[in-house]
Order: sequence, then C-alpha cells, then structure tokens
Amino acid sequence: METPLPVIVCLATLGLTGSFLRADNPKIVAAENFYGGVAQQIAGSGATVTSILSNPNQDPHEFTTDASTARAVADADVVIYSGIGYDSWMDKLLGTGGKPGRVVICVADLISAKDGENPHIWYDPPTMPALVDKLATTLPAPDPTDRTLYRQRADDFKASMKPVLDQIVSIKAAHPNLTVTATEPVFGYMAGALGFKMLNYDFQVNVMNDTEPTAQQTAAFEQSLTSHSAKILFYNSQVTDPTTDRLKKIAQTAGVPIVGVTETQPLEHKTYVEWMLAELHDVEAGLAAQSR
Ligand SMILES: [Zn+2]
Repeated sequence: METPLPVIVCLATLGLTGSFLRADNPKIVAAENFYGGVAQQIAGSGATVTSILSNPNQDPHEFTTDASTARAVADADVVIYSGIGYDSWMDKLLGTGGKPGRVVICVADLISAKDGENPHIWYDPPTMPALVDKLATTLPAPDPTDRTLYRQRADDFKASMKPVLDQIVSIKAAHPNLTVTATEPVFGYMAGALGFKMLNYDFQVNVMNDTEPTAQQTAAFEQSLTSHSAKILFYNSQVTDPTTDRLKKIAQTAGVPIVGVTETQPLEHKTYVEWMLAELHDVEAGLAAQSR
C-alpha cells in the first residue's frame, strides 16, 4: 500500500514553519538564559537562541567554559552577556575572534553599570527594557520587515513589564523602609527597587566570591535573624555553602520568612516577566505570613 501521508505532513510542516527554515535567521548566543529568553521574544521563534548558563543546580560564579561553548560563541551572529565580572569567561571567548559583523551586546554597558558594583544587573527593573531597545536596533534584519517586527516586540515587552513595576510600587508602599537580609547579593537591585534596606552585604559578597565570610560577619548575620531586625531572608538556592545552609535553619527557627531566589531563570517560568512576578509574589507571601 502506498503511504503518501508522511509527504503531505512534511509539506504542511514546511508551510507552517517557513520562517524556521530561513538560512539567514540570526544565531544568538546568550551567556545567561534570562537574556536568551528575552532575545528570543524580540528576534522571534525563527531565531536560534543558545543560552550557556541555564542549569538551576549550577553556581554561575563557578562556571568554566568548554569546547562546545567556544564553538557556539565562534559561530554566533549575536552574543549577549552581562558583563562587570559576572561572566568574564565570555570576555575571553570574544577575544578569540568570531564571525565578521558579529553583534556583541554587553548588558552592563547599556545601563552604565561599573566593575565592582553588584553584578546581578538583570534584577534591576530598567535593565531588560534597555536590552530590548538595543536588540530592536541591532539584531540582524535580513528581511526589510524584520526591523519593524523587532521594534514592535520590544515595545510589547516593555508593556509586559508593567505588572512587575506595579507590584514593586505596591509592595514598597505597603512596607516602607523594610529591613531585610540575603545569603548572596543576587536579589540586591530588586530589593533596592522595593525600597528595602539590605543588611549583611559584605557577607553576601564573600559568599558570591566563594570566600569564607568572617566570624564577625557570620555573627552579625545570625544576630539580624534572631533579633528579627531582618524581616525577610532572601536565600539564593544556587549559591550555597554550609554557612548559608545553617543561616537558613536559624531563620526557620526564628520564624523569619525565607524567600527563595535564583541566579538563572528557573525552567518553570516561561518568560523573564513571569519569573520576576513569581519572586515578587513570594515576597508578598513572606510578608503576609509574618504579619499574621
Ligand atoms: Zn550571584
């Protein structure tokens, strides 16, 4: 018996996904998956996006490259990385050449972030809007209509940030000058946007840099939990050590709400906005649990 059906299916697939088959769709490599996800939103489903850091069980501060990372970067039309030391391995890979005309976006440059500042800049609300504007103007546009599409999607993205900004305003108004602490600086910019006063920053920087916090820093941290001067503990589940584990237990015993935060975008959140909304929801839930 003849079986023409598979041929028909293939043709239908071709028709539906024509844009996937364009040879000139840009190949985008993002150092981190939250930038990769946003780039996919702007470039469209036809673009090939590879995100290097996406494993929720891996400490990005400890990441080292391998041959497949080097190949992906060498073959990219567009490279996006965070900068100011968060992903200095990318600086090294970019120094070894690449495709002619390659577009390189260092996100820190877009918001004038400087070396030595908290490198977790994607938690700062203005960062992703700056990135989408940059993508709209610099993504390769092989078809004349592409540029218009990129601009439209960038504007859509910025509009999609409104619930995040609204939730920030709402939490800030309900909990003015709240004092909080964290095991690692990942949530720092969002805490700042919320108007929170952050305790134990030096401790957090040591954890980030895989340096043992001093006995004094650890004692001050414990005190901030047992005395309830810290109203929330932001716990970075991706960058942990025995000291952060112990502080988490102290917070649990003392009844300080713990809000889990991560470096990379967890797989269960399809977009950056969904991810941020979920973390802000957890902040609200933690504060509500405390006031009961
Ligand atoms: Zn970190």
